[in-house]
Amino acid sequence: MVDRRVNIWEPDAECMDREELELFQFERLQATLNRAYKNVAFYKRRFHDLGFDPEDFDDLEMLAELPFTTIHDLMDSYPYDMFAVPLKEVVRIQTSSVSARKPIVIGYTRSDLHIWRHLAARILVAGGVREDDVVQNSFAYGLFTGGLGLHYGAELIGASVIPTSTGRTHQQVRIMEDYRTTVLLSTPSYALVLADELEKQGRNAKRLNLRYALLAGEPWTEEMRAQIEERLKVVATDNYGLSEVMGPGVAGECLERAGMHVAEGHFIAEVVDPKSGERVPPGEVGELVLTTLTREAVPLIRYRTGDLTSLITEPCPCGRTLNRISRIAGRANDTVVVRGINVFPDQVSHLLQEIGGAEPPFMLVVSREQNRDVLTLIIEVTESLFSDKMSHQTALVEEIRNRFSLLIGLNPIVKLVERGTVGESGDEAKRVLDKRFS
Ligand SMILES: [Zn+2]
Repeated sequence: MVDRRVNIWEPDAECMDREELELFQFERLQATLNRAYKNVAFYKRRFHDLGFDPEDFDDLEMLAELPFTTIHDLMDSYPYDMFAVPLKEVVRIQTSSVSARKPIVIGYTRSDLHIWRHLAARILVAGGVREDDVVQNSFAYGLFTGGLGLHYGAELIGASVIPTSTGRTHQQVRIMEDYRTTVLLSTPSYALVLADELEKQGRNAKRLNLRYALLAGEPWTEEMRAQIEERLKVVATDNYGLSEVMGPGVAGECLERAGMHVAEGHFIAEVVDPKSGERVPPGEVGELVLTTLTREAVPLIRYRTGDLTSLITEPCPCGRTLNRISRIAGRANDTVVVRGINVFPDQVSHLLQEIGGAEPPFMLVVSREQNRDVLTLIIEVTESLFSDKMSHQTALVEEIRNRFSLLIGLNPIVKLVERGTVGESGDEAKRVLDKRFS
């Protein structure tokens, strides 16, 4: 019989009896609720208004009765209001980019970093990484959590990590061949960009040493997986993480590639109906809601991720007992994630109002062209905002683009269209069209 546990980083935690796991979750949740109540003014107010005393929390199911934490709550807490520890206990600060001006600031204590390393190691090992691997990490290093998060996990395993970060694709491809990279960590679209570059440079993927690719950070499809596996000659796994709750390592696929095991000893994953907020049964698609169980610096209770997925509770042949979530199927609200940055239509609306005094009908369109995400802002020409003079229009488009880039950190293509093209403006109007999912 094959010993599958060699592919499991922390067998005791990843293959724990479910009853034992729930007891674990309960104890950790109780401690988290107490800490949040004591140390975070936001939660103190929340619980107080609700008449909820964490001391009364005596059943895991009671979690479903607590209110959600939203991204807006986090934005309002800029920079440190959600921190449950004094800054002197914080040893790392990263951000989740919502807007360039006001990102969500995430802190880590020593213990948070220790756990993060191990959870990153878990998904790496689950995706095939061993200590003798050469890991090329093409996630962005810096304020984003992708680069550093996986970096330390791979080092912990003992793999040789090449911190290439993103960009300089021609160089990445040379490194990949010359340094005999065996594992690629990147976004799915960047894996395809690398495949294109390989072809362009006349290099043959078969001559590379690549075996595995661990991909995350944006929506992708099974078709893309097949394409990446074929073109790079790898086994590709999907993983999931978001900066607000930690970074990469929240969930990841094993080599069965049938859903991502959630690190349930550290996070409770609920899937809820995005409208009613009620839990939906396993197998049904809804919005992923995460509660942190071990985070010291920034504990989050019922954080609405905005990501659509479903819970898989059937046992996995790999031996892990941790429940899985299915591939992210899109966004629950009208935000859209482009290159790791959340874009809210409301932000765009305010920006256009600031410039023109009134909001013209607009639409954000995200598409994938040559494996890169392209954001287009389509605006209807209205009298208040645009004069007929071509020179004015050009200047205005330039101003919108500049301010958009300053506020959100992305450079959109700005297109002006005739009246009535985008459709009726108003609350019901759809302001986001994500073509990556169609
Ligand atoms: Zn599995």
